[in-house]
Amino acid sequence: MPASKTNILAQKFNLKERKLRLRWLLALSSLPLFGIFAAFAIAPQTITDDIEITTVIEEVVLPQASTNELFALQTATGFSTESYWQVEQVRRDDTLASLLRRLNISNPEALSFLRQHPDAAPLFSQLRPGRTISAETNFDGELLRLEYEIDHTNSLVVERTDNGYHAERKTSALEILPTLKSSEISSSLFAATDAAGIPDQIAIQIAEIFSSEIDFHSDLRKGDRFNVVYESQYRDGQLVKAGLVLAAEFTNQGKTHRAIMHRNSEGQANYYTPEGKSLHKSFLRSPLEFSRISSGFSLGRFHPVLQKMRAHKGVDYAAPTGTRIKAVADGVVSFVGVKGGYGNVVILKHQNNMSTLYAHLSRFSPGLRSGQRVSQGQIIGAVGMSGLATGPHLHYELLVNGQHRDPLKVALPTATAIPSKYKADFIASSTPLLAQLNLLNASTLASAE
Ligand SMILES: [Zn+2]
Repeated sequence: MPASKTNILAQKFNLKERKLRLRWLLALSSLPLFGIFAAFAIAPQTITDDIEITTVIEEVVLPQASTNELFALQTATGFSTESYWQVEQVRRDDTLASLLRRLNISNPEALSFLRQHPDAAPLFSQLRPGRTISAETNFDGELLRLEYEIDHTNSLVVERTDNGYHAERKTSALEILPTLKSSEISSSLFAATDAAGIPDQIAIQIAEIFSSEIDFHSDLRKGDRFNVVYESQYRDGQLVKAGLVLAAEFTNQGKTHRAIMHRNSEGQANYYTPEGKSLHKSFLRSPLEFSRISSGFSLGRFHPVLQKMRAHKGVDYAAPTGTRIKAVADGVVSFVGVKGGYGNVVILKHQNNMSTLYAHLSRFSPGLRSGQRVSQGQIIGAVGMSGLATGPHLHYELLVNGQHRDPLKVALPTATAIPSKYKADFIASSTPLLAQLNLLNASTLASAE
């Protein structure tokens, strides 16, 4: 895509154009005091040395703690924007004029201030390639605010005041902002998160948060989609690292699951449905650790579940040798060793007369022995093809009262509710997060028009 074309991301185009552009919406962050959502959109080219980053600000009314207003936000969903943030990087051949053009600053008052005023001097005396410059303009290209990264701690901030433009140097600090992203599954979760520029650690968190609801190795289907809100740390407008998922929504085979993070008084993060039911269940849907390696076996060329419940009474998960295997629930090791055609096997006993069996392992976790307590999610061994196996896979069985049950279908114990002492706090903190998930849904709908 030519450079001139990427600039239209920000402004001066009709509503439909902008809605379409929201297709490329990759991240939104909110400035809590002003209720402004900034969407950083990255043009979909892959040129490495010349990536343009463009920013759009969508002003929306932040919801109060009432479902009516949430609904109003969801239906009205703010394309009634007044101003736009655009972020650019200084290029080698840039002049101040070319830079201001890319930033869509066109009012003569701003242009003469930025070119001539002594306070704005760093803009022409210290214009260095790679530095970030961002500008907030209105629909008519009038500059409202400009920020230029002089170095890693100092920036130049130009603002429009009642008395004209004003410039000052500021020291920047690390800032944590929520990032909002959406994507659709076409081959695997990682392909979808890669396409949306979502870091791996966020993809893995999504898989873990919903691990009692969705088996990310066998349940995913083309067309599944998700929205996620997570913490991002920025310095000088540059992403430093991703933090925790704050809220997520995953639509799998037509069924939508939602998760909202809540920190308890010890600062520990837990995930609940919007109704306040814990997403932590006593059984995981899949014993395979979700990773980039194992996810490559999902979907795409072949389905990971080779055989469902049949003569051998288990589920086979195709996965590369070495993929780690987790205990699906708290329990006690009742067997670890070799068992005929099963090869290397681990059997765990759980509450309610349930037990699980994991076969064909390439190895056991060091020190794993009979009688040992294991916690849900603890690694017990790795996928292999020991015993009678034609290829590396995990053979997994679930027994209830000694009877084989289909692990993919068995009803799992019901979830617990959020402790009552946190209920009010949870409602208050979940409201803006739900609004952000709704905003992502509305953006997606708009882009699909
Ligand atoms: Zn099997």
